[in-house]
Amino acid sequence: EAQDLNEPIPQLIEHYSHTLREKGIRCELSLSSSPLLVNLDLQAFDEALSNLIENAIKYHGDSDQLKISTYRKGDYACCQIQDYGIGIPKSAQRKIFDKFYRVEHALTQKTKGTGLGLSLVQHIMTSHGGRVTVDSILNQGSTFTLCFPLNQTSA
Ligand code: ATP
Ligand code: MG
Repeated sequence: EAQDLNEPIPQLIEHYSHTLREKGIRCELSLSSSPLLVNLDLQAFDEALSNLIENAIKYHGDSDQLKISTYRKGDYACCQIQDYGIGIPKSAQRKIFDKFYRVEHALTQKTKGTGLGLSLVQHIMTSHGGRVTVDSILNQGSTFTLCFPLNQTSA
């Protein structure tokens, strides 16, 4: 069943509004103006995006901003979560998707986590024919992108 990727996002962010307010983080939302039809397992998408939002909140450092956007890129519908937090060193960027891996960083040590979140996100994405990618600069922030194949009959 084809579904608009944009549809579940506002409610999911609403779910974190209390935590965001408490931490003084502004969340800027920018959804594509036209619908992004994908064959989406809603529960799986919620799970993946929740994990990325929780990470962005946990590792926001001194930053008070978070951006979530959706857009079409070729045959893919993408959802991007951008933070301006502690960032991830280049050498660790492949390993963060491994089970139990956590970057050695003072803030990581101070926050609770098992290192399983991103391995789950990657599993969810590959099992839906999609992918998750990371782009990050240490001490500047991280951008995680979820891409799903567009529903061809409606694209
Ligand atoms: P869990 O998600 O299981 O509670 P976790 O957040 O430590 O624990 P992952 O979500 O798998 O585990 O992330 C792995 C590691 O990648 C984190 O421990 C952290 O070092 C790094 N990381 C993930 N997201 C970010 C981010 N947005 N900014 C900086 N570092 C990040
Ligand atoms: Mg996590």
